[in-house]
Amino acid sequence: MTQQQSQDARFVNGEVSFWMRSIGIPRPRPTLAGDISVDVAIVGGGLTGLWSAYYLKQARPDLEIAILESEFAGFGASGRNGGWMSAEPAGQFRRYAKSGGVAAARELQREMFGAVRESVDVARQEGFDEDLVHDGLIHVATNSAQLFRAQHHVGELREQGWGADDVFELTPAELAQRVNVAGIQGGYWTPHCARMHPAKYTRGLADVVEKMGVTIYEKTTAKSVDPHRVNTNRGVVTAKFILEALEGYTVSLKGKRRKYMPMNSSMVVTDILPPDMRAAVGWDGGELVGDVAHSFAYMHRTEDGRIALGGRAVPYNFNSSFDRSGRTTPSAIPGLQRRLLQLFPALDGIGFTQSWSGVLGAPRDWCAAVNYDRSTGILSAGGYVGHGLSGTNLAARTVRDLILGEDTNLTRLPWVGRQSRNWEIEPLRWIGAKTLYAAYGYADRREYATGQNRTHWTARLANVISGR
Ligand SMILES: Cc1cc2nc3c(=O)[nH]c(=O)nc-3n(C[C@H](O)[C@H](O)[C@H](O)COP(=O)(O)OP(=O)(O)OC[C@H]3O[C@@H](n4cnc5c(N)ncnc54)[C@H](O)[C@@H]3O)c2cc1C
Repeated sequence: MTQQQSQDARFVNGEVSFWMRSIGIPRPRPTLAGDISVDVAIVGGGLTGLWSAYYLKQARPDLEIAILESEFAGFGASGRNGGWMSAEPAGQFRRYAKSGGVAAARELQREMFGAVRESVDVARQEGFDEDLVHDGLIHVATNSAQLFRAQHHVGELREQGWGADDVFELTPAELAQRVNVAGIQGGYWTPHCARMHPAKYTRGLADVVEKMGVTIYEKTTAKSVDPHRVNTNRGVVTAKFILEALEGYTVSLKGKRRKYMPMNSSMVVTDILPPDMRAAVGWDGGELVGDVAHSFAYMHRTEDGRIALGGRAVPYNFNSSFDRSGRTTPSAIPGLQRRLLQLFPALDGIGFTQSWSGVLGAPRDWCAAVNYDRSTGILSAGGYVGHGLSGTNLAARTVRDLILGEDTNLTRLPWVGRQSRNWEIEPLRWIGAKTLYAAYGYADRREYATGQNRTHWTARLANVISGR
């Protein structure tokens, strides 16, 4: 049945994202027309670039700032994501603690809590808060191994500074009152997450930034970044400071092919649920919902009453290739649809409106970083591995402080100056990613089949090998 659903004539695969189509694919702003010189050139018109422009212009209205965007603002992951504005930083606490100390790693976590609040508050103040709801995040465990991981993770969060009001373990009955996922064995809720509409939010921020006096050049592609100079298909931009804000697209820049693994994340969205299905699903709040599987599924109940589910359908394509329009490999779509029906069997028979994919940037050590090379004026921020929505806000305020030469709490966070080694050359990169996700898929299936209350050994081995 699910295959038929994705073959429905109305079903759309790609076209950037459901979010972008729901507001209408924007007509690009004017391109760069020849060489220019500015104070700050920002390469990439996603949330990293837009937030950085916002905070810089707010602090120093006299700065001339240009954003160079190859398609249109929000074309990348920022306009395609699951809408979870959540508080866990990308990567592992122990890695940040190793490089910067435990106190600094805790400070990063504290700042991430603040970044969720800040991302909500600014959107409300500036008026791009349509469909924004701050109701928190639920993780549900639907087998014993997932429950073990959920409980273990809550313990880890406590050690990392999450207090009594930051995360709550919930019983199956308490969870079922919020969302009726099949086979719930337990889980947890945190208030530190807001649900945003990726296209409305990102486009709204772009409009605000433009009104502040930042110029956004669209259909303008950077080919290479050199000290104080960005070479684009439309001219050369010279600047005192250059911010690379390309996340998964960084690999398209000259010399950056192995900096990140551009990982695909893919989503499907249902048609609007009829009242009986909506009642059976019982998800009336604005919480985001995710599972605790190794092949993680993240879900979002849309403002107009659909359910969107995302996961790593085809996590990585050979030689870092990906479909720019956001088309999902057709054979991978039924798997996402099936996962949604497993979690909500009451949705059997629901139609699906769209599927789409986007790329996020995975660094080799899985930790995000903000870097600044004073000698070249080049900064970069990214590597959020699926935790970028609040992460971009925190990174952008950090970029502001670095450019303004201020020594602040943010410039001392342990992700500042962090260097991760390059990914392996092909075909090793592709074989590694494929093997890793095959192992995770196998572990998920075995954990459901056996009912074991520990993580399957294949997933533990995969974690050790990948360094996650
Ligand atoms: C399907 C999906 C679901 C996700 N879900 C979540 C979630 O629920 N919560 C969460 O926290 N994170 C999530 N993420 C990750 C999050 O969306 C990203 O971390 C975040 O949006 C990164 O923002 P960015 O501005 O750094 O990059 P992007 O938004 O990718 O922006 C980069 C921009 O650069 C442009 N560009 C590319 N090449 C060039 C070039 N050569 N020259 C000029 N411009 C160029 C692109 O068009 C793009 O607009 C998800 C990602 C995906 C793909």
